[in-house]
Amino acid sequence: AEPFRVAVIGSGNWGTTVAKIIAENTNERPEEFVRDVNMWVYEETIDGRKLTDIINEEHENVKYLPGVKLPKNLHATPDLLAVASPADILVFNVPHQFLSRILTQLKGKIKPTARAISCLKGLNVEKNSCQLLSTQIENELNIHCGVLSGANLAPEIARECWSETTVAYVKPKDYRGKYDDVTPFTIKHLFHRPAYFHVQVIEDIAGASLGGALKNVIALAVGFVDGLNWGDNAKGAIIRLGLREMIHFGHTYFPGAKSYTLTCESAGAADLITSCAGGRNFKVGREIAATGKPAEQVEAELLNGQSAQGIITAAEVYEFLSSKGDLDSYPLLITVYLILIGKRSAECIPEYFNKTEDVK
Ligand code: NAD
Ligand code: 13P
Repeated sequence: AEPFRVAVIGSGNWGTTVAKIIAENTNERPEEFVRDVNMWVYEETIDGRKLTDIINEEHENVKYLPGVKLPKNLHATPDLLAVASPADILVFNVPHQFLSRILTQLKGKIKPTARAISCLKGLNVEKNSCQLLSTQIENELNIHCGVLSGANLAPEIARECWSETTVAYVKPKDYRGKYDDVTPFTIKHLFHRPAYFHVQVIEDIAGASLGGALKNVIALAVGFVDGLNWGDNAKGAIIRLGLREMIHFGHTYFPGAKSYTLTCESAGAADLITSCAGGRNFKVGREIAATGKPAEQVEAELLNGQSAQGIITAAEVYEFLSSKGDLDSYPLLITVYLILIGKRSAECIPEYFNKTEDVK
């Protein structure tokens, strides 16, 4: 069988880290994958030079992953279609607010036999519907899509500190046979690095996706209580309440999502705990509570162009739950949004919980 050609769509902090992992694996498995990996870069100029030129000449993404050398078989390009059109496996890895526009550009321009993996953490909310991003990719591009999500702070993985992740991938309905198609094993071979990145493959796409999307909102809340210096007990309380709301959200709106995934897989509680210990959303939440500055200002000041997805997801989840008349079941998720838009102060978190009955 012909080796699979892999393309990475996105080159931020996590996008570049995952591209590094993939290029290491394709380099070691030429019988399974085409060695050269193309990575789409949203072009920008840094000190008069194009970011793509810097990445290709110095093998370093100096803006989004400084200090990390990238494999020489990883190539940066600003042309989305040139990257995506020839690919057999498309790995999506952009902040989710940019996904729709990218999919619009790709529609009808990719191989109909291509398979996709979404490394994004977020949800697609439109009016009163809430969709997994992998479903959005499947529907827009008419290709099968799985998910990679886990307790994965990119800077640690880029330095090759040991961690693990969850891949959710099921065999597609139009499966062409193991020599001609991407299998769960193919996906494992693409992402697993024996020394530092362990991949667990499961089938629960909804569970893996929801954990990654909702923990971003909860990490903001843990940041709030940390910014107020309320100590570790308060952080534990927020994590517990957040996990409960994640599970309840899954049961209610994505009945296939398994509680086991949200609690016992890397994409569940482990990601929640990791993100609440030191992720970007946590840091942004902490700074908001400590300084009283608006969320977008803090994001711009702290993250140098990176994105705290919890800010957008909090608004999207609020909009969706509001359309369902179901705000009261999610006191934590809703409180985070109200704090972000300045309608409540972080100090009111305990007061709000006192008034709220337990989620059944
Ligand atoms: P990031 O936060 O570093 O975002 C910056 C990226 O967005 C850059 O590549 C930038 O060029 C790009 N960008 C800016 N404007 C754009 C536009 N108009 N159109 C398209 N792209 C534009 O990105 P990231 O950390 O790679 O995050 C990608 C996804 O991975 C997110 O869903 C995130 O939640 C998830 N994730 C991140 C981490 C992490 O530690 N960084 C870990 C796991 C999952
Ligand atoms: P932040 O975006 O909050 O840094 O979280 C990254 C992540 O998803 C860790 O698994």
